[in-house]
Amino acid sequence: MEYEATIGLEIHAELKTKTKMFCDCLNNSEEKTPNKNVCPVCLGHPGTLPVINLQAVENVIKVGLALGSQITEFSKFDRKNYFYPDLPKGYQISQYDKPLCQGGKLKLFLSDNEEESKKEIQITRIHLEEDTGKLIHPADGKSTLIDFNRAGVPLMELVTEPVIHSGREARWFAQGLQILLKNLGVSSADMEKGQMRCEVNISLRPKGEAKLGTKVEVKNLNSFKAVERAIDYEIKRQSEILEKGEKIVQETRGWDPLKEITYSQRIKEEAQDYRYFPEPDLPPLHLYSQTKEGGLFNLEELKKNLPELPWEKKYRLIRTYQIPFAGANIIIQDEKLLTFFEEAVRFLSQKSVSDLSKGVLLIYNYLITDILGLKEKNNLSWNDIKLTPENFANLINYLLNNKITSRVTKNILEEIITTNESADELIQERGLEQVSESSSLLPIIEKVINSNDKAVADYKKGKETAIQFLVGQCMAQLKGAGNPQELEKLIREKMSR
Ligand SMILES: [Zn+2]
Repeated sequence: MEYEATIGLEIHAELKTKTKMFCDCLNNSEEKTPNKNVCPVCLGHPGTLPVINLQAVENVIKVGLALGSQITEFSKFDRKNYFYPDLPKGYQISQYDKPLCQGGKLKLFLSDNEEESKKEIQITRIHLEEDTGKLIHPADGKSTLIDFNRAGVPLMELVTEPVIHSGREARWFAQGLQILLKNLGVSSADMEKGQMRCEVNISLRPKGEAKLGTKVEVKNLNSFKAVERAIDYEIKRQSEILEKGEKIVQETRGWDPLKEITYSQRIKEEAQDYRYFPEPDLPPLHLYSQTKEGGLFNLEELKKNLPELPWEKKYRLIRTYQIPFAGANIIIQDEKLLTFFEEAVRFLSQKSVSDLSKGVLLIYNYLITDILGLKEKNNLSWNDIKLTPENFANLINYLLNNKITSRVTKNILEEIITTNESADELIQERGLEQVSESSSLLPIIEKVINSNDKAVADYKKGKETAIQFLVGQCMAQLKGAGNPQELEKLIREKMSR
């Protein structure tokens, strides 16, 4: 039988704020000393009172505005009661029935498939809560340590509707959300550092059936790859169970990234009762006002000041510069790369170039292939790259005007990427300008033909590849500066005589 998977995501992201959610402790996920950023409030001492960090509230509202969510006019915090050693108060301050944002959608705009990239994933809600502490299990296996640095850090939780159908779609969604959070400056959203965490709910049903199947939850997914693989694994596991006529157990499963399998963590008999009730120590939030009187935030103002959103950037890049769909995806994922690209284009356009659109594509190609290639190969960070967009644009201008060859361009790039030596000066000093005049090329061709009898004979016997060999020999003599088309033409002429 064919089965359809229905998947919903729950994504938590630590928000970037100076202080924690309800106290003045620093919100610093880089802190190495355990229990340094703690105080009586976030340690849950009796008699202490929380105070709302409005920066965190604003961060979540910005996300909601970017996703087209309905911002809740009157919101509030609630207590979610449960016991766990990483939760010093015995409850977590969260939001139950009045989340900051409801609805909204995010397109799978990062997908490399144009059709798929238009698919919209509906969002159920986005709310704000506090993070818990961290349990550390030393290798001796005899004790457990608790670090409360993370306790009380503002945490955003976003829940999607169950409208995702594959691991791939889930990955695009999570990746797209990560870029949005970074773009808005509201979270560093680094999954490896636990600043962004994904949980998936997944159920299978026979294709065409309306009723949803039994839901399985998978936790501990700390990379995009894990999100995709865990879902694909579950789809396979659950369909095999259903195929045998057996029932899916409603449970929470973990992900083993080494074995690439999910494993049972705990069986859920029924929904846990958290006994939510309104947080008595915090006032309700009047977030904004339709009538322009009162309210903590001016939504119009916040909306107007949102930066250009990643998907807007993507379509602007494609529209303005005619760069390929897949390339636009690469550029929008790296703010530095985007700035470098647009700056280089700006410098090039200040020169009197004959074909700017061709120049833009050259910039794009050499940036994506060569600069990113060198960055990867030599393990460089953007800080190591000293090449300026201006110097790069100068170099590309030589290539655009056929003054240097692509071989020379690549060689120079490799040399100046970490030094920013002037491309102009290097080309002049070393005489690397492309030689196209037959008066300069012919003496070299003569020499090469005279010293390569075998290749010449091969060519005359009809072996076409021999010509490339001869062009290559001339290029070597010219230190890569010969015009290859011109060389080939002249060699053919010479040998047909
Ligand atoms: Zn504190």
